[in-house]
Amino acid sequence: MATTNGVSDGMTEPCAVCGTDTLHEISIQLITEGDDDETAQYSREPYRVRECSRCGNRESKRMNNA
Ligand SMILES: [Zn+2]
Repeated sequence: MATTNGVSDGMTEPCAVCGTDTLHEISIQLITEGDDDETAQYSREPYRVRECSRCGNRESKRMNNA
C-alpha cells in the first residue's frame, strides 16, 4: 500500500520525547491567537505542526517570527 496523503509530508527530525531522530508528519495550520475579540480575526498565524510517528508527540511552532 503506497497511498500518500497529499497534504502532509514526512520528515525525519529529532524528537524530544523519543530522544532520537524519528519520522514526523508535518502539516501547516492556521491558529487564531490572542484573546482580544477585535484583533482575533487578524491574528491567525501559520503554525508548522509536526507529529512524531513513533510516540505521537505533537509540537507546533509559529512560522513568522513577529
Ligand atoms: Zn517521538
